[in-house]
Amino acid sequence: MNKVYDFLVIGSGLAGLSFTLKAADYGKVAMLTKVDLLETNTSYAQGGIAAVTYKPDTYNKHIEDTIIAGNNLCNREVVEMVVREAPTEIQQLIDWGARFDRESSGKFDLAKEGGHSEHRILHHKDNTGYEIQRALSARIRSHPNVDVFEYHFAIDLITQHHLGKLVKRIHSDTECYGVYAINLKTHEINTFLSKATLVATGGAGNLYTTTTNPLIATGDGIAMVYRAKGTVENMEFFQFHPTSLYNPGERPSFLITEALRGFGGILKTVDGKEFMHKYDKRSSLAPRDIVARAIDNEMKVRGDDYVYLDCTHLAAEELKKNFPNIYEKCLTIGCDFTKDMIPVVPAAHYLCGGIKVDRNGKTWIKRLYAAGETASTGMHGANRLASNSLIEAVVYADRAAKDAIEQIKNVEIQNNIPEWDDKGTTHPEEMVLITQNYKEVQQIFSVYVGIVRSNLRLKRALDRLEIIYKETEQLYRKSKLSKQLCELRNLINVGYLIIKMAMRREESIGLHYNIDYPPSV
Ligand SMILES: Cc1cc2nc3c(=O)[nH]c(=O)nc-3n(C[C@H](O)[C@H](O)[C@H](O)COP(=O)(O)OP(=O)(O)OC[C@H]3O[C@@H](n4cnc5c(N)ncnc54)[C@H](O)[C@@H]3O)c2cc1C
Repeated sequence: MNKVYDFLVIGSGLAGLSFTLKAADYGKVAMLTKVDLLETNTSYAQGGIAAVTYKPDTYNKHIEDTIIAGNNLCNREVVEMVVREAPTEIQQLIDWGARFDRESSGKFDLAKEGGHSEHRILHHKDNTGYEIQRALSARIRSHPNVDVFEYHFAIDLITQHHLGKLVKRIHSDTECYGVYAINLKTHEINTFLSKATLVATGGAGNLYTTTTNPLIATGDGIAMVYRAKGTVENMEFFQFHPTSLYNPGERPSFLITEALRGFGGILKTVDGKEFMHKYDKRSSLAPRDIVARAIDNEMKVRGDDYVYLDCTHLAAEELKKNFPNIYEKCLTIGCDFTKDMIPVVPAAHYLCGGIKVDRNGKTWIKRLYAAGETASTGMHGANRLASNSLIEAVVYADRAAKDAIEQIKNVEIQNNIPEWDDKGTTHPEEMVLITQNYKEVQQIFSVYVGIVRSNLRLKRALDRLEIIYKETEQLYRKSKLSKQLCELRNLINVGYLIIKMAMRREESIGLHYNIDYPPSV
């Protein structure tokens, strides 16, 4: 039977949660999440959330810092809007129960991160994301107007295409009526119908072998919108965090914060030699993208699997006091970072591009909104400034909710939607057909479409991906649907978009570095 709601929200991270809490005062909301409510990228965010609070900080400084980080490819109007609306949304998070650390005077304890000219990062210890997720999830669970559907995997958006009508990509009049989703506990495919739908499915870090993103980050929303003939942009800009703990097989990779380098940690090759001075006069304190490229180059040239972050010369007690979580984590792999160097590698971290939206979070498909990491708003340009993603998510969720609340007054539920046409009757003979292709996709992207690219590498990646695409489509057509198969298919779609957009950008800028186009100095 169809499940009918005013609002449908796909994703339970900060974007989905905050949209839901606002929309739920105006209608019934269904929130779908493919795992449980708490397993999101949001829960893993450590550093904090950026907003201007006290002088000497100003909106203009935050705006300029964002645009400089984004290599002037940001949309200035969007940056101004997000920065100016940020303080109101921070207050909203506090009203919903999120706690941020304060000094004894009662003022916020603001941190400063790379690229920020002022202290402006609100945080809760070193687990800010989890604190926000905890507070908002508790409210969602008790809200009478919200039905949470955990372990429900959204497969595809429902559009006119499902009514047998032709949908074109350009000048599209496509409308979204809801989504088909697999109940992962019963394996039934449900039809969710809505007046307005929000895609808030987060990033796609699992395209790469090493990522800080949890397993949920497979770009599902972007792939769904692309298949429904929506518009996707800026996919070539994938941010890598320079230092995650090298611990093969561990997913997600554990993030080693930049603050450790700020504290005096020095990057070294496996034979103990410093190398960052060869790449930038700021050495180990150079910006994220430069450090990530330098590490990548050293590893490739030397054939090593990792480099070291050396903190052994720093005061042991201070280190343990300031970085207790990192200390504990390193001990689990037998590394006491007061005595041993920490093995680190860059890890795929944040997707700047995604589903194109306007300033109200509207996509190019009617009745469909997107917010959070899955959306491309114009805020990040060619490189995201640290701690700007949580604030972008909450500002856009607010704008999308306000717009959707108005829009649903004039639309009706589309009732004549057919049930999901489950053509597949068989289970794949062997799961390995899916899991091996998943690994191959990750290897292709890590080696050819990672931190440093070239025209030849991109072409090679496209050719390889084509083979896996064909195999996977065949499997998809004849098999019973599973989460694993759908995620693989989505990663292939997202990967295709990254390669195509990377090929189209004939320059090196920000996060897109192609050795065939040396950056202009
Ligand atoms: C280790 C780490 C540290 C970070 N630190 C910071 C930081 O300090 N500051 C900052 O600003 N940003 C940080 N980020 C980035 C930030 O956390 C994310 O960009 C942000 O949380 C994304 O929120 P979201 O709501 O868009 O998506 P997410 O929080 O990722 O939520 C996505 C949701 O979508 C659901 N979903 C996905 N696909 C489907 C599907 N097919 N069907 C149903 N549900 C689906 C998932 O189950 C999940 O509920 C960090 C990220 C990581 C990984």
